[in-house]
Amino acid sequence: MARRKIIAGNWKMNMTPTEAVALCETLKPLVVNDDVDVVFCVPAIDIVPVAKAVEGTNIAVGAENFYIEDKGAYTGEISAPMLLDAGVKYVIIGHSERREYFGEDDAFLNAKVKKAFASGLTPILCCGESKELRERNAYKDWINLQIKADLDGITAEQVASMVIAYEPIWAIGTGLTATSDQAQEVCAMIRNTIAEMYDTDTAEKVRIQYGGSMNAGNAAELLAKPDIDGGLIGGAALKPDFGKIVNYNK
Ligand code: PEP
Repeated sequence: MARRKIIAGNWKMNMTPTEAVALCETLKPLVVNDDVDVVFCVPAIDIVPVAKAVEGTNIAVGAENFYIEDKGAYTGEISAPMLLDAGVKYVIIGHSERREYFGEDDAFLNAKVKKAFASGLTPILCCGESKELRERNAYKDWINLQIKADLDGITAEQVASMVIAYEPIWAIGTGLTATSDQAQEVCAMIRNTIAEMYDTDTAEKVRIQYGGSMNAGNAAELLAKPDIDGGLIGGAALKPDFGKIVNYNK
């Protein structure tokens, strides 16, 4: 069974609520593609207005972050029940910016993956290597360690329903895209790791995205690769170009 492509925008810390609604209005007619799942992962303060702006469209709303408790004294945090009540379906977990700037380690990310599933949110779990790990050819071991740690205790059925994003850190926001062969190599390796940890059926079902300077010019080549099931897109998700990425096959 062919896996359905999933193209998700990661807006990061961009767009005021007013700007977010305007961007939705610009993108709505451009991101229609029946073959593709489309997700806008937006800043917490934009979730409610974006959910309203995309109501009745093919666009699902995602969060960029959440905390593992349902409520209480966690000043500044946002919980899974809050996200669900606002209409959120997906949540990004383990983005390299959160690992690096906010000290989120694999044990915490594993707790987040568990909490997302327990709550009914679909994780988009990010993994990927630094330039230094790539240069000393240690990237495969690194990514496998991330995947194994982050999915510890997660069931086959859960993994089959989630999204994994391979995002080489050296390609994020740098304009340096992994070649389609480099991206394919790692996405296939991740699928093999899932087959080893679980079974081939689970590995065939899990959707694996590539992320890192994906744009309207390189999306079609990347998305033509057999193990690349979509994209997680930063910079280009804030422009009309996002519509061209979603319609890479038209
Ligand atoms: C990202 O932050 O997930 C990302 C892939 O960013 P960019 O597309 O800007 O490289």
